[in-house]
Amino acid sequence: MKKLSTIGLMLIILFTSACGSNEVVSEKETLKIGYLPITHAAPLYFEKEFASTYMDGVEIELVKFGSWIDLMDALNTGRIDGASVLIELAMKAKEKGVDLKAVALGHKDGNAAIVAPEIESVTDLKGETVAIPHTLSSQNILLHDMLKEGDMTYNDINVVEMTPPEMPSALAAGTISSYIVAEPFGALGVTLNQGKVLYQSEDLWPNSLCCALVLRNDVIKHNREVAQQLVTGYVKAGEKAEKLDEDAYDVHKKYLSVDEQALDLSLEWISYDDLRLEKEDYDVLRESLLEMGLSEGPPSYEAFVDNSLIDQVKVE
Ligand code: ZN
Repeated sequence: MKKLSTIGLMLIILFTSACGSNEVVSEKETLKIGYLPITHAAPLYFEKEFASTYMDGVEIELVKFGSWIDLMDALNTGRIDGASVLIELAMKAKEKGVDLKAVALGHKDGNAAIVAPEIESVTDLKGETVAIPHTLSSQNILLHDMLKEGDMTYNDINVVEMTPPEMPSALAAGTISSYIVAEPFGALGVTLNQGKVLYQSEDLWPNSLCCALVLRNDVIKHNREVAQQLVTGYVKAGEKAEKLDEDAYDVHKKYLSVDEQALDLSLEWISYDDLRLEKEDYDVLRESLLEMGLSEGPPSYEAFVDNSLIDQVKVE
C-alpha cells in the first residue's frame, strides 16, 4: 500500500513538472481582442497573421463575435481585453462607467450609402425604409447627414435596424430602399447588382470616425509593455493592409467570407494608414451624438482617447 502511494506520488510529481514545462513554453502574454468579421477590422487580421514579425513575447487571440451587443458585453465584463468596435458603443460604455480607452482608429472611410437602382437622390427616399446596423453608430450619423442633404428628417423615412449580412438581400427583395453599413456589405450590394452608391462617407462627413481599437484601461495601466506591442503591431499591420500586396487577399479571405470582386471594391473605399484618433475629428462626432440625442454626456477626448501608445510607434 505504502509502495503504491509512493509510485502515485512520483507520478503526480512527474505529471506536475510536465505541465510546468508546458507553461514555460506558452509563457507569452496573450491579449484577447474581439472583432466582427467585417473589412473594418482588417488591421487586426494582418496583425494576427504577421504577429511574429510585429510582436515579441505577446500573442494576440482574436475572438470573433456575431453582434456588437455580444462583443460589448464581453468587453464590458473583461472577458476580452480589447476590441475593434464601433466607437459610439465604446463611448457609451465609458459614459456608463466602464473604463475603456480608444488607442487607435479601426480604419478610415469605408461606409457607403447604398440605394435601390430607382433611387436617384435622397429625396426619392421619402416614405421609404432605410436600414442601419445600430442606432448608436456612425452609419446612423451618416444617415442623419444624408437626410440633411435633402432637407429631410427621420420623420420622412422609416428607419430599421438590421444585421449587416441581411442588408443586400433585403434591398434585392425590396424590403428596404437603402442601407448604410460597414464593409464589405455595401460593396456586396453593388457587385451583386442589387444597388448603387448614392454617397460615400467622405461626401457626407469628411474624416468620419467609425470603428476604433479600444482597450480596457486596466490592461494599459498594469501591462503597458504588452499594450504597446499590440498597438505598434496594429499600426504596422494597418500599413501592410493598405499596401494590398499579393498575400493581402488571402488574409482578408481567411477572416471574411466574401468574394474577390466585392472585396476589391470594398478595399477601394477604405484605408488603414494613419490610424491616430485626432481631437478635431472626435469633437465632430461628439457634437453629432449630442445633436441627435444619442448620448447625453459623451466622454471628452481627454477622458476617452489615449494616444500615448500610438505616439510611440515609429512609422518607416
Ligand atoms: Zn467601422
